[in-house]
Amino acid sequence: MKKPPLIATRVLILVGMPILAVTLVPYYGFHVGFGIFEWSMGILFGIMTLHSISAGYHRLWSHKAYQAHASIRLFYAIWGACTIQNSILHWASDHRKHHKFVDDQNRDPYAASRGFWFSHMGWMIRDYKSGEVDFSNVKDLVRDPIVMWQHKYYIELVLTMNVGLPLLLGYLFGSALGVFLLAGVLRLVVIHHFTFFINSLAHIWGSQPYSNTNSSRDNLILALFTFGEGYHNYHHSFQGDYRNGIRWWHFDPTKWIIAVFAWIGLTNRLKRAPQLHIEKARLEMQYSLALRKAEHLQEADRWCQHLEERYAQFLVALEEWTTFKQEWYRSKKNELLATIEHAELQQRYIELKQNVKLQRHAWRLLTTQLAST
Ligand SMILES: [Zn+2]
Ligand SMILES: [Zn+2]
Repeated sequence: MKKPPLIATRVLILVGMPILAVTLVPYYGFHVGFGIFEWSMGILFGIMTLHSISAGYHRLWSHKAYQAHASIRLFYAIWGACTIQNSILHWASDHRKHHKFVDDQNRDPYAASRGFWFSHMGWMIRDYKSGEVDFSNVKDLVRDPIVMWQHKYYIELVLTMNVGLPLLLGYLFGSALGVFLLAGVLRLVVIHHFTFFINSLAHIWGSQPYSNTNSSRDNLILALFTFGEGYHNYHHSFQGDYRNGIRWWHFDPTKWIIAVFAWIGLTNRLKRAPQLHIEKARLEMQYSLALRKAEHLQEADRWCQHLEERYAQFLVALEEWTTFKQEWYRSKKNELLATIEHAELQQRYIELKQNVKLQRHAWRLLTTQLAST
């Protein structure tokens, strides 16, 4: 089948810049050398752009996982343009299609089912039908004046942030060409591939704790390079959550920064998926995998029955505990509640919490036993 035509400007950026990065940067480094200022600018530009994609383009505009003050939106719009990943409007439209039609070769713009190369970069450099522009899924963003301003002046912002600003900073405080090569060229290429890995590797390499109905994966190593975006299996299951790594120890600096901004009033309405839905998704996934394994064992019926019973009990314990917790918080607010009633509730709270613990322990024991057979 004949391939669609190449898009010249994109080839120039996506192929030309890496060539400059592996030739001109080492040449300059060897013959002239880079100082601390040049390296600092490279790292600073890297942090600003990577964060603007993860917190701005992705979680704020594509998923509306929280709301942000105009100053924050302006910051993300400017530094987001510096990544040369197209305007917010284009990026969010493509990304919403990716979530809606994930893995569909005709409708997901960067379907991982079309292979590593296509989902990593290939989808951008040719005029594929799956990449057709259609802003009907970003009508809400059209109402954001900052989004529209960035869309209108996108080329000007790209040139100012990638060429003008590095040259100016370098001219004032160090070497103009040196800062341009590290904060402009090398940083651009590195950040490009870090973010592209989420469309390619995070759909190929890693675990699937929440769902295997699509190719997305959780991958700690990718999370380290993408400010937390590597927990992609969770993200595809709960895309409206402002967090991608949900445990406190999960490496997700994007969620930490959004939360810090919330404390100082710059972001609000941070959305979280209900804990029960998260636990249920994880449990269902473990249950279906365990059943698949048990079906091939000698005493398949006995194993399956055992799993079903444990699964049902764990699920009931989780549901009871979550429902009660909601009532508990509501009742805590009610100062008129009689002391005796409060004591009874407290007792029930402890019992149900303990039951979840017991059921979780029993479930783990059974699945571990099954895994070792
Ligand atoms: Zn994805
Ligand atoms: Zn997403």
